[in-house]
Amino acid sequence: MNYYSTKNKNNTVGLKEAIFKGLPDDGGLFMPMVIPVMEKAFIHSIKKLSLQEISFELSKKLFGDDIPSQKLKEIVDEALNFEIPLIRVCDHIHSLELFHGPTLAFKDVGARFMARILSHFIAENENDIHVLVATSGDTGSAVANGFLGVEGITVHVLYPKNKVSKMQEKQFATLGQNIRAIEVEGNFDDCQRLVKTAFNDKDMEGAVSLTSANSINLARLLPQSFYYWHGWKQLANNENTVFCVPSGNFGNLTAGLIAQRMGLPAKHFIAATNINDIVPNYLIKGKYEPRASVSTIANAMDVGDPSNFSRMLDLFDSSQEKMAGSISAFSYKDEEIRASIKKVYKDYNYILDPHGAIGFKASQEYLKNNPENEIIFFETAHPAKFAENVAPEINRQPEIPQRLKLFLSREKSSIPLSNNYKDFKEYLKTLA
Ligand SMILES: *Cc1c(COP(=O)(O)O)cnc(C)c1O
Repeated sequence: MNYYSTKNKNNTVGLKEAIFKGLPDDGGLFMPMVIPVMEKAFIHSIKKLSLQEISFELSKKLFGDDIPSQKLKEIVDEALNFEIPLIRVCDHIHSLELFHGPTLAFKDVGARFMARILSHFIAENENDIHVLVATSGDTGSAVANGFLGVEGITVHVLYPKNKVSKMQEKQFATLGQNIRAIEVEGNFDDCQRLVKTAFNDKDMEGAVSLTSANSINLARLLPQSFYYWHGWKQLANNENTVFCVPSGNFGNLTAGLIAQRMGLPAKHFIAATNINDIVPNYLIKGKYEPRASVSTIANAMDVGDPSNFSRMLDLFDSSQEKMAGSISAFSYKDEEIRASIKKVYKDYNYILDPHGAIGFKASQEYLKNNPENEIIFFETAHPAKFAENVAPEINRQPEIPQRLKLFLSREKSSIPLSNNYKDFKEYLKTLA
């Protein structure tokens, strides 16, 4: 399969190049030339399939031309070695718990998948590969853990100083081995800009092999479409299934749109954001107005210029009307997020994290005018990852899973960096 750039459909590359480059040279984003459609038989028999089996069938369609089937099976089985259960919270609202992976957030899925695809291709490659990843918290830990110990790859995690939780920092800045944490004087958008600039810097070409692991990379994005099918399968009601996705960079939501094009009977999507409401505003007003991100308690979604927006535009032929026909959007302030955590615990005895709380609240709001639907919202992180904001609302500490406790006992080690590209470039040159 080939992949084109959203800036120029004639600019195409193969899978390996799309994954290693991360971004096309023209500054667009890669999209599959053809979005394959699943056979009806797959949809009819999906009830009998496990998460791994579903993912394997989808992978063959997406990656089968480029990766042997046996290898794909290995990649899927290793990457998706945890549960993704659907839990009914109340009438019409169900939580798809995407946090049962090693770092307790949905990004484990894409990161674990990508690490294994890269390492499959790297076997043919001579040079060491440097993965650059900008994180507002959870991407860094998922990617770092997904790649930990993989030979021939070094991961550089850029994160905004004092803007991620201690717990998040511990999960990527304590690992050592092939993982380096870079603490940037600035916000998440600065981190993202540094990474993007490095990829577009002609001087770096040939000097060091750089690749991205942000949600802009297809090897992370496409596997995120798998659990939409798995969620849909677990909900017996088929025709009225609406997906509600707490969104920041909109990778997760874009993956859902791709799943729908592949034949998933999703009726509608809800984009739920914190007050960084750039996409909701676009859907309402038709104007895309990126701006500096604002810090919120759902900090993995503090994004002021969502990178996947150009993919969404591409999927809807740049028509706001079409996009708004498929996606409704809601945004919430911190107080509303807190109130939602409190109320859902009190009424339904279910503990939400701040990101999931946005999803739940948007689901409720959507149902008011569309009561016939069953909504699957994504619980994108375990509440214990955001205990400082969850505990006061539920009057107790959320239980900390063992795998998180282990991280907390380790010592942090990071490299300080300004938000000036010149400094980052100096650092990159030392890797050559
Ligand atoms: C990254 C993240 C999101 C946002 O996902 P996008 O694909 O960037 O929209 C939501 N919740 C959590 C916990 C995250 O880590």
